[in-house]
Amino acid sequence: VSELATMMDVTATQVIATCMNLGTMVSINQRLDAETLSIVAEEFGYKVDFISVEVQEAIAEEVDKDEDLLVRPPIITVMGHVDHGKTSLLDYVRKANVIAGEAGGITQHIGAYNVTLEDGRKITFLDTPGHEAFTAMRARGAQVTDVAIIIVAADDNVMPQTIEAINHAAAAGVPIVFAINKVDRDAADPERIKSELANLNYMVEDWGGKYQSQEISAKTGLGVSELLDKVLLESEMLDLKANPDKRAIGSVVESSLDRGRGYTSTVLVESGTLHVGDVILAGPYHGHVKAMFNERNQQVKSVGPSEPVLVLGLNGAPQAGDKFNCLDSEREARQIANKREQLQREQGLRTQKHITLDEIGRRIAIGNFQELNVIVKGDVDGSIEALSDSLIKLSTEEIQVNIIHKAVGQISESDVMLATASNAIVVGFQVRPSIGARKLAEKEEIDIRLYSIIYDAIEEVKAAMEGMLSPEI
Ligand code: GDP
Repeated sequence: VSELATMMDVTATQVIATCMNLGTMVSINQRLDAETLSIVAEEFGYKVDFISVEVQEAIAEEVDKDEDLLVRPPIITVMGHVDHGKTSLLDYVRKANVIAGEAGGITQHIGAYNVTLEDGRKITFLDTPGHEAFTAMRARGAQVTDVAIIIVAADDNVMPQTIEAINHAAAAGVPIVFAINKVDRDAADPERIKSELANLNYMVEDWGGKYQSQEISAKTGLGVSELLDKVLLESEMLDLKANPDKRAIGSVVESSLDRGRGYTSTVLVESGTLHVGDVILAGPYHGHVKAMFNERNQQVKSVGPSEPVLVLGLNGAPQAGDKFNCLDSEREARQIANKREQLQREQGLRTQKHITLDEIGRRIAIGNFQELNVIVKGDVDGSIEALSDSLIKLSTEEIQVNIIHKAVGQISESDVMLATASNAIVVGFQVRPSIGARKLAEKEEIDIRLYSIIYDAIEEVKAAMEGMLSPEI
């Protein structure tokens, strides 16, 4: 409703009033069906043209043969509570990895960097620590992490953001290695951290569980190489492979506008090899790769799988998590970029429509619904536990209810991003969304349901699961 009002340059109230005259009650964020849309637009003197959101993009996917697949380095993200040492760990690894004779080492922050261990094995680190960045990328369709390091300070406790980070990694299906940091401090008590993790059902290996953990000091470097060994062990089990011998595809890590160089984007190659001169398309932007720089500020001519590189030559700044492709001709790239831009502009295009409680009933009816992901936020721990338990118990043979994250506090942007990435609904009990979260939820079409009575929350989800929920007005 509000988008239509903006496009027609009238107020949302006028659109709502017109709908009411037609006998439909709508709210400002409601999606109108095609027929209503046409009638309303006509009332204001507009004619509606429907164009397909399915852009026919002629980007041919190249199929890989088994023998073309080569081992690629793992991509690692470091997550954890603020001040527990994410930045220090990334800094330590970066500095420790100054290869002998190399001037300056890793001097540039480009959003990701690649290190080579003494035995020749390589690891790529995403240099934007935190689960917010991780999930923001995932929300745009990019899964650019193979293993997550969750860092916990041994002189502190497992904190709310630690739990949030664990849940964000788990929701993405990314294996976790725990780094128990700051063990150089007198107040450090790693065993307490392990017991707190065990209480959350994350039992570490020394306690007989399945999660690898390593005591480290990001300050002195103690235990860091053992940590990297464990990360590599975890990633070996994933059997990470890619074909370097084709046109590159991958994801954008970050972009900016540089006064001297124009638009720069750090991209991470997923497979194939990116060369200087290639025609590249990322989100709604395109261009020729004019030059590429690695994290050591050296010019490079080509980069392969799992390698990050700063690219010059795009005609705009694509967002973190946008995919990039390489095409045969600039004309083709321009056409697709223009089409994408037009769609984004005209329609506020969403690649994925997110689930609402109303939608659940409909999908159950047509039988294509198996899992309902829920994020529960509340004012006190007790009610969150009670509500989560009751929701899980609503699971039936057909539908599994998953609580992918629960925590005390208002509904934050990070919650909405997680919901976007995991196609979840957000249930708030005696709490409200922040302004930022509300805006993001509107943009991403995330269903946030607020309750002050547990019974109401359970009844509504239950009704939705039974396909009986009347549409929300
Ligand atoms: P982030 O917020 O998770 O990125 O945390 P930082 O890396 O900025 O670290 C927060 C503070 O803890 C800084 O003052 C660091 O110097 C300190 N710190 C981080 N790791 C260690 C460690 O292993 N030992 C000690 N003593 N201090 C650390």
